[in-house]
Amino acid sequence: MHLVSTGVILKNITNTTPIILKSYNPTNPNSDIDTYQSCTIIAVGLPCFRIFAHQNNRLIFLENCNPMPEFVHLHNHTHYSLLDAACTPDQLIQAAKEDGQKAIALTDHGVMFGCFEFYKKAKNAGIKPILGCEVYIANGSRFDKGAGKAATKKRNYFHLVLLAKNDIGYKNLMKLTTLGHTEGFYYRPRIDTDLLEQYHEGLIALSACLAGVINAPLLAGDYETARKNAIWYKNLFGDDFYIELQNHGLEGDEIVMTQAPRLAEELDIKLIVSNDCHYIKKNMPSRIMCSSISRTQD
Ligand SMILES: [Zn+2]
Ligand SMILES: [Zn+2]
Repeated sequence: MHLVSTGVILKNITNTTPIILKSYNPTNPNSDIDTYQSCTIIAVGLPCFRIFAHQNNRLIFLENCNPMPEFVHLHNHTHYSLLDAACTPDQLIQAAKEDGQKAIALTDHGVMFGCFEFYKKAKNAGIKPILGCEVYIANGSRFDKGAGKAATKKRNYFHLVLLAKNDIGYKNLMKLTTLGHTEGFYYRPRIDTDLLEQYHEGLIALSACLAGVINAPLLAGDYETARKNAIWYKNLFGDDFYIELQNHGLEGDEIVMTQAPRLAEELDIKLIVSNDCHYIKKNMPSRIMCSSISRTQD
């Protein structure tokens, strides 16, 4: 049992080296390892969540190889995230299968176009499909097409990952994504907090990427708004709301990784670690990705 890395989460979907603490004993966390004494366990994994800790304001991971608990990628995009992801459901499922994972989630941007294909193919491959969506939350009412300039200067929507945990959740997700298109569409299919209040049953919410409802204010240096948002989501989703941590080597990741765990601890919200997968391997970005971020492939 030893520290394996500092501040690094998964680089890509195929790099899933086991990094779980072997036999963490919550009543005596210092019993097995010296280096443990100066770190605080901030998230102990359920079957699909890895264990990680916070030490000197940096995230660290603790290793376990035997047995390898099941790890599930809960934040994945396919080419159904239009103009914003390169891999197909087939590639995603194949990568999870090759890595020995037993389940995988689909969380395309604002749409559920891929759900049917993904569900069928994952089932055929013997992998449990988790249906979800990374929705856009209007900064204000979904009917207000100019909303949001005051809070974050330029955003009129934030990201939020929703996962269906049962049939009701799946139906609610369909309802939400439909209303996002028919009522809230403004650059993106946006829903709002009123709709979430109405249709949140059966759904798990994760706080998403740097454009998320909590991370965006954190990045803007507005801890209070991040805190207020976290309280709102926790009140609505209860234990089904998780603060999501990612490390893609982006400028804002470091800020989030130091501040979000503090927020989670203050409000007693569980943390999960995810990788915002848009393609399978690092060398695989396509023209689609380049065009969506206005870059050339070279
Ligand atoms: Zn996002
Ligand atoms: Zn995403």
